[in-house]
Parts: sequence; structure tokens; C-alpha cells
Amino acid sequence: MRIWAIANQKGGVGKTTSALCLARCLADLGHRVLLVDLDPHGSLSRAFGVAAEPPPKGTFDLFNGESIASVARATGQADIQLVAAQAAMATLERRSATQPGLGLALHRALVNADADYDFALLDCPPTLSLLLVNALAACDRLVVPTQTDPLALHGLEGMLRTAAMVERSRGRALVRQILPTLYDRRTRTSHETLEQLNTYPGVSVCPWPIPMDTRLRDAASLATQPRHLAGRGINAYRDALQWLLETADARPQEAAA
Ligand code: ADP
Ligand code: MG
Repeated sequence: MRIWAIANQKGGVGKTTSALCLARCLADLGHRVLLVDLDPHGSLSRAFGVAAEPPPKGTFDLFNGESIASVARATGQADIQLVAAQAAMATLERRSATQPGLGLALHRALVNADADYDFALLDCPPTLSLLLVNALAACDRLVVPTQTDPLALHGLEGMLRTAAMVERSRGRALVRQILPTLYDRRTRTSHETLEQLNTYPGVSVCPWPIPMDTRLRDAASLATQPRHLAGRGINAYRDALQWLLETADARPQEAAA
């Protein structure tokens, strides 16, 4: 199983949308996909109609030693399963102070599910938290959706610093890739930000930026009516996925200092 963390320490940059669309495109290629909602806000889960209260089985249970097989649920989309967010995830931060080893809980759960899926996509929270650290410790690739707006570069920089920290502690480099999102080719800001993204050391930038597309605005319809998926946005995700797959065996870049 390949494990991709979809992460950025900024909200609203297209993490959840990217997780949903890449999952759909991977499933269309015949892959078995597991989506893991690591954001206590649970937008990915809500898109599939799963509410965090009352708590379903889900991500929190993985931190109590439950297996992915016992908490993953069907999504209505063939070949995509979901580990849903639970409100109790918010309490994990407190527990991590007293319970060593919690940083690898997700890693352990995914290792045990290795034969059940071809891909796991981890939809990360926008905060530097135990859940994000778990994702970075478990993944072999970090995909950073980055809005093509100068303000979004701070989130990217924070994310790259966190990645470097986790890489050092686990003694292994990640493949780090930027997926430019919310791209408006008519604006100079979008162009300039894209150029700037290409100057960051230790990351590669997807040459297929994801354009603004109103059809990508509604996560619930992406999740529940994938047959209606068409248009520039999803086509760009298909191209981006192709690029991600082609670079699948890329060696991790030299980590940035
Ligand atoms: P994050 O998970 O990083 O917080 P989301 O994926 O939830 O970000 O996206 C933030 C908002 O932007 C959502 O309302 C989403 O529907 C919208 N959105 C994301 N990508 C696009 C896009 N390419 N075009 C138009 N709207 C988008
Ligand atoms: Mg999100």
C-alpha cells in the first residue's frame, strides 16, 4: 500500500477536495483506496454523510489499538473506504503527553492493513498536532496542496519545517510534492505564486495546477455523486494524479535545511 499524506498547515487550501478527487481518480484506475479523515472538523467524513457526533467507529479508535478493518466503512463509491473523523480526536493531544508511542498509532494500523488497499490518502488537519505528526510518520509521500496566493506560502513553509522535523526523528526522508490549487490563470498573482513555488528546495511542484472550478466547491456532491464529476477541475486532478504516479518511485529529495 502506498500512503500519501495530503497536508498543509493552512486551512482552506484544498486538502479535503484533493483527497476526495485523487481518491476518485485512483479508484477509476482500478485501485483500492482508503481515505482517512484526520481532521477533527471532519469535513471529509461529512462529505460522505458521516457525522462526528454521535461518534461512529473511526480514526479515534485507531489510537485505542483498533484495526482499520474494524473501523473502516463503505462509502457508496466502489473501491473507496473511509475511516471517519470522531469528535474525541480532539482529546488526543492531552493524552500524547502521558502515553508514549501515540505518534506511531496510525503507522501501526496502516501496516496491518497493508494487503487490503493499494493506496491510503490521509486528509490532515491544518494544525501542527499529534494527528498531523502521525500522518507524517506513517506516509511515504507528502502532498501539499498549496493555494496559488502569496498568503498561502506561510502555510507551505510551516509544513515543510514540520516535515523536516518528523523526517529527522524517523531517520527517513519523505517524497515531498506541492500540488498548486485554486489556480486562476487570468491573474498575475496566481502566475507569480506558481513561479515562487518552483523555487523551494527539496520539493517538486506538480506541473498541472488545479484550477478554480465551481464544480469542485461542493464536497458532498463530489463524495456522493461521483458520476456527475466532469470538468476542468477533475480533469486537472486526473493529470496531477498521473504526474504523482509517474513520480511514484522518485527518491526523496534532499531535505531542505
Ligand atoms: P482544506 O481541506 O485545505 O481546508 P478544502 O478542500 O475544504 O480545503 O477547500 C476549501 C474550500 O475551497 C471548500 O469550500 C472547497 O469546496 C473549495 N475548493 C477547493 N478546491 C477548489 C477548486 N479547485 N475550485 C473551487 N473551489 C475549490
Ligand atoms: Mg479539510
